[in-house]
Amino acid sequence: MSETADILSRPDQAVILPNLAAGCSMADMADIDSVTECWEQLEELYGTEPDAAGRVPVIPVTYMNSSAALKGFCGEHGGIVCTSSNASTVLEWAFERGQRVLFFPDQHLGRNTAKAMGVPLEQMPMWNPRKDLGGNNEQTLLDSRVILWHGFCSVHKRFNVGQIEKARAEFPGVQVIVHPECPMEVVDAADSAGSTDFIRKAIAGATEPTTFAIGTEINMVNRLAAEYPQHTIFCLDPVICPCSTMYRIHPGYLAWVLEALVRGEVVNRITVTDDVAAPAKVALERMLAARP
Ligand code: SF4
Repeated sequence: MSETADILSRPDQAVILPNLAAGCSMADMADIDSVTECWEQLEELYGTEPDAAGRVPVIPVTYMNSSAALKGFCGEHGGIVCTSSNASTVLEWAFERGQRVLFFPDQHLGRNTAKAMGVPLEQMPMWNPRKDLGGNNEQTLLDSRVILWHGFCSVHKRFNVGQIEKARAEFPGVQVIVHPECPMEVVDAADSAGSTDFIRKAIAGATEPTTFAIGTEINMVNRLAAEYPQHTIFCLDPVICPCSTMYRIHPGYLAWVLEALVRGEVVNRITVTDDVAAPAKVALERMLAARP
């Protein structure tokens, strides 16, 4: 995200990451070398010629939680970036231009979004980067509509259907809302699923005191519970750990970089080199221009 902020910032702006060890373990599950190797295998299988409708064989789509190098890869190969808020709009954009999509790094966002758009599960093979053809046979890949990278969020993967059943048993009438990074069966069992913004708006829009069970990162749930005391809001997973990589940015580091700024020093500045930033910006701008 800090790389993306740098790519989209003005020349007079600097992006600072308070702790350089912070990040996203899901983003680390797809790297540029593995995706490039996957792409070469797909090109060998599909070729590069468009079909009669002018759609290329495959469009790469990367989730915002990915390195600048992967966004640059998408920019260079006719692809695009998505967020959890606009994933279906972006997939529609991609299906207009391509016969199928290579979606990385989060398999769950890709699967949940494509399934909601009517893509059958059997047309969504998983790509395991440690295996030849991602562990698939050629026919499966030829028949595919969305090829899902074998990545996941270790926080959202912890949610399960048993937690939803328990919440429904203990709180009749509870509204269960989960993030689309959760596994498919959890999304299917919930009342609704959507991005953090979707979750926040759903709670903000509730006019009567309501009980909400939320399937997303615990600190987001705690903030919502504090902000909307008229509702009962709790996390589906009672023992959930906060995201350890994201929360490496804590107030101590923030204070440290702010104190440096007061002294006139910019510490931990994030800069993306032009050779990566230029194609990554193309993929980001395609996303910003895509409209439902
Ligand atoms: S919760 Fe943590 S691991 Fe999961 S997507 Fe967010 S930053 Fe990445």
